[in-house]
Amino acid sequence: MADSNSVSILGGGLAGCAAGLSALARERGATIYDPSRAARHRVCGEFLSPEVRDSLDQLGVWPLAEACRPALMYSMRVHFGRRVCADRLPEPAIGLSRLRLDHLLREAAAARGARFVAERQAPASGCVLATGRQSCAAPGDRIFGFKAHFSGPPGDAVELYFGDRFYVGVNPVEDGVTNVCGLAPESLLRGLDFSYDQLLELSPALRERTRPLTRTMNWLSTGPLVYGRRTQPEDVYPAGDAFSFIDPFTGAGMLNALETGRMAGAAAASGQSPEAYRRAVLRRLQRPLFAAGVFRASIAAGVGPLLAPWIPGRWLFALTRPA
Ligand SMILES: Cc1cc2nc3c(=O)[nH]c(=O)nc-3n(C[C@H](O)[C@H](O)[C@H](O)COP(=O)(O)OP(=O)(O)OC[C@H]3O[C@@H](n4cnc5c(N)ncnc54)[C@H](O)[C@@H]3O)c2cc1C
Repeated sequence: MADSNSVSILGGGLAGCAAGLSALARERGATIYDPSRAARHRVCGEFLSPEVRDSLDQLGVWPLAEACRPALMYSMRVHFGRRVCADRLPEPAIGLSRLRLDHLLREAAAARGARFVAERQAPASGCVLATGRQSCAAPGDRIFGFKAHFSGPPGDAVELYFGDRFYVGVNPVEDGVTNVCGLAPESLLRGLDFSYDQLLELSPALRERTRPLTRTMNWLSTGPLVYGRRTQPEDVYPAGDAFSFIDPFTGAGMLNALETGRMAGAAAASGQSPEAYRRAVLRRLQRPLFAAGVFRASIAAGVGPLLAPWIPGRWLFALTRPA
């Protein structure tokens, strides 16, 4: 178990490492429990919102991320069938693989004195809970996520392709690699024998975009995905997806994980009450979670493509960032 000066953190992903770095910056120790001994590929679009620069800078690791030579994205393009809505991003966004990002955060935390313990833990009072998404869902048409890396023309935009009941994001990451990542319901995937290559063929625009690309890894999948806030014990500091899971189309999940992880580490290290911490996090996340839910519902109802041309992409982008 962690010593009494050490903040106990469950989960060594983005939120857990951010919490560890934040506690260490406050002259407390950090013990990070995670059954995974090392960073690994994860199902993620690997699109980092521009504000992530500041988050990583505050954690003292932005130069390490910059040294990985991440891809930069200057614009967004959203495809609804044949209709395309394009806009410039307020600032360049960053494309960096989770393998690199998680690795550099783990390395930085370990170099500053965090102790990593390769164990799964049950939450104890006062711990930071950064154990990620809930992965069980009520019966129904459950949603799954999938991702692979590709070689070929990378582009400098984040592209989202909405099809009938699914969407897929295409964006560059470091080393000229392209990330292709999406979400679809189980019923659709079952009909395709869970062939994600076949799913890319369902939208003509997506088929055209991915035709010159060559897949360089096996597809990874995850799920079922459950959106929104999670119920957690009252005496812990939940962070990242363990606090709430925002729709991947917002590209804000990693930003939220880094920010809430940083806040949770600071709160646990300084003795702020879990209740005050949660209120502070909610003030930041309530609006983006609500906005994401409204967009999800309008897409499901089929009105997304009708409204999209009238709503500036920048505005949608701003609404789904933390306040
Ligand atoms: C399909 C998909 C696409 C996405 N695309 C994007 C995107 O493009 N941009 C973006 O910003 N976000 C995206 N996200 C969201 C983003 O991946 C998450 O918000 C982010 O990974 C959350 O980080 P985390 O640290 O909270 O959780 P995780 O990264 O899941 O880390 C949780 C860690 O906790 C560990 N753990 C679990 N249980 C225990 C336990 N009991 N004890 C100890 N350790 C435990 C796990 O091993 C894991 O390492 C996407 C998500 C999905 C599903």
